[in-house]
Amino acid sequence: MPHKNEIDLEAHRDALLAILQPVADDSAYDERRINKLVQKYGRMDGGRFFSRDELIRAYRQFAGNYLPPFDASVIERLRMKPVRSASGVTPVTVLTKPFPCPGTCIFCPNDVRMPKSYLSDEPGAQRAEQNAFDPYLQTMSRLTTVSHRSAIRPTRSK
Ligand code: SF4
Repeated sequence: MPHKNEIDLEAHRDALLAILQPVADDSAYDERRINKLVQKYGRMDGGRFFSRDELIRAYRQFAGNYLPPFDASVIERLRMKPVRSASGVTPVTVLTKPFPCPGTCIFCPNDVRMPKSYLSDEPGAQRAEQNAFDPYLQTMSRLTTVSHRSAIRPTRSK
């Protein structure tokens, strides 16, 4: 059963296959050419473009069915190349549930959906809200995205 925030791959199958078929057929597809395909076949509902995470999930689901048999090298092509921060550390943001603060700092954001001082349009805050502020689910969601997008593997926590 898909996670509540995951798109319905079957509902977007035609657009996803339009992207995945050429990538599966041609090992010469690189980052730039895949990005062009993604831009050409945006989400059918007119929303945002498919993420690499969604393309990889779709490939795993459709390979051997609507696409040639599963080939791990296609996953490698679909993964975004590792982007390292200057420090070499990939942050994992975890937010507590919404909670007020007795402070009265006038410039501090006051979004009732978020813990005090956070704005709901920040990626970490959106991930927290989508995961009901569960710390385990927030961490899992972030690490899944990182591991799907690159070859980066978690090595330690602090
Ligand atoms: S900056 Fe915001 S969170 Fe920090 S003490 Fe002031 S009101 Fe509270």
